[in-house]
Amino acid sequence: MTAPAPFVTTGPDGKQLVPGGSVYRPPSEADSLLLQVTVGCSHNRCTYCAMYRDKRFALRPQAKIEALLDAYALRSPAPSRRVFLCDGDALVVPQARLMAILQAIRQRLPWVRRVATYGDCRSILRKSEPELQQLAELGLGMVYHGVETGDDEAMAAIVKGSTRAEVIAAADRLRAAGILHSVIVLLGIGGVDGSERHARQTASLLSRIDPPFVGALTVTPVPGTPL
Ligand code: SF4
Repeated sequence: MTAPAPFVTTGPDGKQLVPGGSVYRPPSEADSLLLQVTVGCSHNRCTYCAMYRDKRFALRPQAKIEALLDAYALRSPAPSRRVFLCDGDALVVPQARLMAILQAIRQRLPWVRRVATYGDCRSILRKSEPELQQLAELGLGMVYHGVETGDDEAMAAIVKGSTRAEVIAAADRLRAAGILHSVIVLLGIGGVDGSERHARQTASLLSRIDPPFVGALTVTPVPGTPL
């Protein structure tokens, strides 16, 4: 079998989108198969983030995803037991499509033990608890969530598109569904003036939601972003 062709699609206006583009994953998914099920981020507005500014959000065609899985199943000499769904917020994929993707992974890569993805409050809370349970039963085991801060003022300033209350609701829903919640917070995102409030509010939020995993990154201003 030949190598899968690079992903290219067009937007509603017929304009060509960036093929595949840069792909990001959490450090702990270094050994995972990276499966790009969306292109870009459906939000794409966080002021500090430059990851997907060159991409317009689109769902990747199911046939392309299945072709990639077929190719991987045939070619991989040491198959990965984990799959990470890219790009920025793959949990936003509509429920039926996401279930079809997880079923395709299970059928073609039966050795896979866990599927993970990035998600945020919008994508988590768009799914009901029973829907998240369905995804968990099909192998979705972890959602990495860039909460960044527990301070509503800082969240609004960075255009995170969520609130502290929504983070709590999202954490509770994932826990009830049996999906591990890996939370990322950003040291420094409160700025100098808001630093203490950011620290206290983030600590109290983490104490409230008590996620199984927390990663603390340090904010780095990236050229080309509003920050
Ligand atoms: S939701 Fe994540 S990927 Fe999307 S713009 Fe914000 S930080 Fe970047």
